[in-house]
Amino acid sequence: MAVSNEQRAISIRQPWAYAILHLGKDVENRPMRTHYRGPILIQASLKVEEDEARELKLDPDELSTGAIVGSVKIADCVRGSKSKWANRGQWHWVLKNPRVLARPIPFKGALGFNSCSRQGPKRSAVSHATMTITSFSWGYWGWGNATARLVEALDKAEKSREFRPPLFVDARLRRQGRAKGFVGNAFRDLVGTSRYRWIQDLGNLAIATGSGGVQIKNPAAVADLLDLALHAADERRRVIFYCACEYPALDGALACHRRTIADLLLAHAKKIGRSISIVEWPGDTPTETRISVDKKMFSAIMRGRMSVPFADDRLPTFAALPWASMLTVECDDHGRTGVVAVGPARFSVSNNGTGFWYLPLVESADPDATKEALLRRAVKWREARGLNERRSL
Ligand SMILES: [Zn+2]
Repeated sequence: MAVSNEQRAISIRQPWAYAILHLGKDVENRPMRTHYRGPILIQASLKVEEDEARELKLDPDELSTGAIVGSVKIADCVRGSKSKWANRGQWHWVLKNPRVLARPIPFKGALGFNSCSRQGPKRSAVSHATMTITSFSWGYWGWGNATARLVEALDKAEKSREFRPPLFVDARLRRQGRAKGFVGNAFRDLVGTSRYRWIQDLGNLAIATGSGGVQIKNPAAVADLLDLALHAADERRRVIFYCACEYPALDGALACHRRTIADLLLAHAKKIGRSISIVEWPGDTPTETRISVDKKMFSAIMRGRMSVPFADDRLPTFAALPWASMLTVECDDHGRTGVVAVGPARFSVSNNGTGFWYLPLVESADPDATKEALLRRAVKWREARGLNERRSL
């Protein structure tokens, strides 16, 4: 959620802070009226009402105290609410949109309802922690011989979106294959141990047995993955969990176990009340951009070439270009234009060791189609490959 400039917060004793965030407690009972409407942070105060906690079947020792634990919106203030949580004779502050903080922020001081903009936690810490955390799934297909370029692209994409370089989680059962840059410790050695984890438990056992399909070695390991994503978020990094396959799905059917990992991760996050979003790298929804090419390249693309080369200075934005974005190709010679659907930047390694950056087309150019028709088709293409965002809450 967005946090308003003025950091309002309210101290609430447990188990009531928990009840608001997790049990659907939709009114706060107070002797005083409030005219404030909008979001407020919830600080669980130090004292716990133990009998009430047990009545709600909660363990008093398990409840967070002395910390900001979430936020809620005050939508109204009435008397005579029909909610089962309303106490007669009090004002009922009507609560909506409870959001659990990804990670409680320790804060022991007493918070007056209006006072926290000055004495509360730093705005950046709070707005960061209240946000939905995004993690990416990804397949290194096509990158095996260009891992240094790959890391350059990913880091620039994240920087262009104001994130620090991402944390990589290798989700393969075995670190083998033809892609040199991903065999054994090769990728870890490139990015460094602080940005690399191998969670073999997330690997697909069906690969070892050759039985086909997906059977995650230890599904409970998604808790480790979520933990990594939360820790990374504290450092303004995001997690990319990966295997080798090109796409998570094909024609709408499961094509890679990273899709199953995403399902498990979303279910786990939902169960513990955390808001996370999982999307195939680089995320976001299709956008539009332009590029100018020479006459020869223009005709090649319009005749079926599947890549559009670009110069290095476009890398930060092109590396983060969402799948199925519309690229207007302008011919710098005769001024004609054509539109194609593309995916994020890739690097092509030449035989002599050099290479070039390009945008891959998601389907060959169709000069007769309108941009609207192209976008409709590309969006379907994107959906059928499992590239869309999904959220736990
Ligand atoms: Zn896979």
